[in-house]
Amino acid sequence: MPELPEVETVKSVLVPVVKDRTILGIDILRKSSVPGDQKLFVESLTGQRFLDVSRIGKFLIFHLTNDKVIISHLRMEGKYYELLESEENTKYARVVLHLDNGHKLCYDDSRCFGYLRLSSEQEYRNDKEIAKLGPEPWDADTKTIMKQVKNSSLPIKSALLSQTLMTGLGNIYVDETLFASKIHPLTPANKITKEEWDVIIKEASRILKEAIVSGGSTIKSYHPGKDIDGNFQTKLVAYGKSNTPCPRCGSIFRFIKVNGRGTTFCPKCQILKSKQIKVAIFGKIASGKSEVLNIFAKQNIPTLSSDKVVSDLYKEKQVIDIINNTFNLEKKDALDRDALRAHLSKNPKDIKKINKIVHPLVKEEIIKFFKNNNKGIVAVEVPLLFESKMENLFDVIIGVESYKQQSLLQSRDGEKSKQLEEINKSSTYDINKNKADYIIINDADLKSLSNKTKEIINKLKYRLD
Ligand SMILES: [Zn+2]
Repeated sequence: MPELPEVETVKSVLVPVVKDRTILGIDILRKSSVPGDQKLFVESLTGQRFLDVSRIGKFLIFHLTNDKVIISHLRMEGKYYELLESEENTKYARVVLHLDNGHKLCYDDSRCFGYLRLSSEQEYRNDKEIAKLGPEPWDADTKTIMKQVKNSSLPIKSALLSQTLMTGLGNIYVDETLFASKIHPLTPANKITKEEWDVIIKEASRILKEAIVSGGSTIKSYHPGKDIDGNFQTKLVAYGKSNTPCPRCGSIFRFIKVNGRGTTFCPKCQILKSKQIKVAIFGKIASGKSEVLNIFAKQNIPTLSSDKVVSDLYKEKQVIDIINNTFNLEKKDALDRDALRAHLSKNPKDIKKINKIVHPLVKEEIIKFFKNNNKGIVAVEVPLLFESKMENLFDVIIGVESYKQQSLLQSRDGEKSKQLEEINKSSTYDINKNKADYIIINDADLKSLSNKTKEIINKLKYRLD
């Protein structure tokens, strides 16, 4: 869909094409492209001369003699072509205006969402779609906008797309503006502070003006005029860049849907303030993740260890029975974890089976834990965060890794360490660590680990509402 800068480009290309030209005749090739009375449209405009073309938001306004006005919106695919009368109409020509210089202006629209509508100098600003438009960003002011959104908890992305606060930001430029302003697209509009609105207005103005100067933005096959093809994609910083690194902080851009609209944002630069921040801590065995969890606990943060949850589960008769039966283990009152570990290291394929039994139960416990501690920061150690597909339960993911892992493992328990190493080999930590919001390298002493962890906790506190 063309955005404001493209429409501005179309306007500047159209002015010299139509200015001072008189309409000799009009062919309406598809009625829906001229809503209203088509006969009146043709009769009112034939014989009139174009005075100028202006733009309000993404509407093109053609001004003609006798106060006649054409309101035109390109919607998804609308394009104007200037052709010689001797040339064939374009493939999806819907309306053709014959001009008095041997040229014709073809309105082409493959999807037919755009239109031309008859209006007048007295009326066009009251057109119901135009009347609801807010000012363009460079004319917008924070006070007015804050009054408008006082009671609106609509995500800022949707609020800006509505065009009522300010006009001109479509999907592309809203993403660019929010990235530049460091605002999370899901932030409720009434939670945006005065300072943040000042930044949004400033960045929206800058981004749109730059895009206008460079002639529009990104549209794949975009034709502002017959001989001008716009491809200005290089300028975009955030839009369409999901899964690539943020140029500001290096985090991986994320893609979400906000009220159905695809949205790209940086999870580190654009932070969503919330009452509860759910933190997952993951890493290989003996990476130091339990120590990190302990440091959270010492800061009075509610914590939960999935390993502890699992060992509690292994004490429940029902769970013990299922596991003993599934793997033909010797029946005892308590679960023989060493026997289970030995079995799994001999039959690695059974790891999937045990996970299928245990992960849903662990997930249930974690959700219960969130509900019981529903304010502030909460931290959960989840060694198999991605294997268990629990990553979406959390707002923040911390990876813990250690280069001294090997020696840590050996110092633990000589016999077990081999089995544990095997399990580490099958860990998906390395392929998932790029999804972590923070990585803690645990290669020095406990004090250093504690400092690194506290630094992150302090950053997280800023995100609390
Ligand atoms: Zn970033």
